[in-house]
Amino acid sequence: MRAVVIGAGAAGMLCAAELAERGVDVVVIERNSKCGKKLFITGKGRCNVTNDCDVPTYLSKIVTNPKFMYSAAYGFSPSDAIALFSGKLGLALKTERGGRVFPVSDKSSDVIKALEKYMRVSGVRVKYDERATAVCVEGGRAVAVVTDKAQYAADAVVVATGGITYPSTGSTGDGYRFARDLGLKVVTPRPTLVAFVTRGAEGLQGLSLKNVALSVVIDGAERAHAFGEMLFTHTGISGPIVLECSSLTSKYRDENGAFPKRSKAIVDFKPALDIATLDARIVREFTAAPHATLKTIAAKLLPRALVPYALKAASLQGDTRADATDREARRRLAHALKNFELELVGAEGAEQAIITSGGVDVKELDPKTMRCRKIDGLYFVGEVIDVDALTGGFNLQTAWASAEAAARAIASSASKSCHIKVDSV
Ligand SMILES: Cc1cc2nc3c(=O)[nH]c(=O)nc-3n(C[C@H](O)[C@H](O)[C@H](O)COP(=O)(O)OP(=O)(O)OC[C@H]3O[C@@H](n4cnc5c(N)ncnc54)[C@H](O)[C@@H]3O)c2cc1C
Repeated sequence: MRAVVIGAGAAGMLCAAELAERGVDVVVIERNSKCGKKLFITGKGRCNVTNDCDVPTYLSKIVTNPKFMYSAAYGFSPSDAIALFSGKLGLALKTERGGRVFPVSDKSSDVIKALEKYMRVSGVRVKYDERATAVCVEGGRAVAVVTDKAQYAADAVVVATGGITYPSTGSTGDGYRFARDLGLKVVTPRPTLVAFVTRGAEGLQGLSLKNVALSVVIDGAERAHAFGEMLFTHTGISGPIVLECSSLTSKYRDENGAFPKRSKAIVDFKPALDIATLDARIVREFTAAPHATLKTIAAKLLPRALVPYALKAASLQGDTRADATDREARRRLAHALKNFELELVGAEGAEQAIITSGGVDVKELDPKTMRCRKIDGLYFVGEVIDVDALTGGFNLQTAWASAEAAARAIASSASKSCHIKVDSV
């Protein structure tokens, strides 16, 4: 049996190696001159391989279609990924904050090397600098892959072409085109885990904040909320809580990343204090220093760079003295500290996004095997499927788990067809 895997990224490499190890003849088509170009840039060059968590926790971090991954996740869990890399593939791993698992070397290149070695030892052949252009189907069955250089007959075709983000890595959404050409439904791909473009914080770029809360309000309703770190950029806001909110709100953005008009990002600079407690804190500051100006007092509650923005949001003058500030004005200050509003324009584009939301509709695939329901012998694995998760190693875990599910299914169908042939001799 011959399997052709399109794409030597995370999912494609693992799927190919696992197939070849089970005795399948495997050819991988990779458009780049090397494997794992995107893997190389993961985790800021350190590659957050997976997350040291149980399966329910992993599933809870999947934003789109967690139920689809249920079977694959139990078939190849985060612990299985850790065992594979640190055991069989000989890559020493370490676990950091939030269960994030990295190579001890802090080098994503070591993850790539481990997978390349696994492919080599298992007997996978990789065709570099060759771009797949179509999957051929005959009689409802995938039979070949056409590239810009050749055609490869196949008993099974695995599409592992990734999403649309960081297109310079080779992931430009070709798999979506193959799926559409074959009549499969593709949910519109949108870049996600990405920074927001906002208005109202111009001049704050470089300022980072810890222990703040961010809410995204669209059409008057809160659609996402996250607590933690964020930073201001020259076009808007970024950082862990912004990425999380971007993931939770991707379905509200249009294809160009724009949010509906009047969408807002609301920052709570004092999430640990309710408004009454914060007001009482401001009263204490006013009482302790009645001659102090509002800008001096606000600077005790906020990073200095934010003070003019918060005072403006509260319609207050920085030079006004505390003892000249009435209760209503004081309450406006407390409100501004907990509800700092930015106009939410949209999200940055695919060039800067970590993952794609959207992709091959999960209804087209069997969740146990990643096999296309309508076309025999055709499988989709990794980011090309409409599954995306939060940061923390969960997206690579999806790549590993879906790749393993497909490899097991293809290898078992190969051994069945082998038995049939033997019986019929
Ligand atoms: C900056 C950044 C940091 C990230 N960090 C992390 C992290 O630390 N942890 C984590 O879990 N996730 C992380 N991710 C997400 C993670 O990289 C993806 O989830 C993962 O790479 C998806 O694997 P894949 O194999 O499906 O696709 P990819 O890794 O994108 O691989 C697809 C491969 O297919 C090839 N290809 C595409 N089209 C064709 C074609 N027509 N013919 C031949 N070859 C083709 C491409 O060249 C590429 O090699 C990060 C993403 C980015 C952009």
